[in-house]
Amino acid sequence: MALELRPNCEYCDKDLPPDAPDACICSYECTFCADCVESVLHNVCPNCGGGFAPRPIRPVTERRPGLSLAKRPASRERVHLSYAKDEVARFAAMVRDIPPERR
Ligand SMILES: [Zn+2]
Ligand SMILES: [Zn+2]
Repeated sequence: MALELRPNCEYCDKDLPPDAPDACICSYECTFCADCVESVLHNVCPNCGGGFAPRPIRPVTERRPGLSLAKRPASRERVHLSYAKDEVARFAAMVRDIPPERR
């Protein structure tokens, strides 16, 4: 299984193409832009409570057989937040001060 490389920020719907330098993912691949992670989510994934890491960029060049962006393309299925924004804010406020390794 490869990372899904989801096409948008789940919070603000910004496009996050596979080469976006500001795409962030949680351990379940929930995907958000760096701005939202920093200023709205405070490094708390609203779906699982985990922290985020920068999403790696999939190589466009097929340097090994079958492994490239063209051979393993990004997802085109946009994902949208399943919680209200005020609920997300309350959730983040509750979790943000706990370091990810102790959540
Ligand atoms: Zn965003
Ligand atoms: Zn998550």
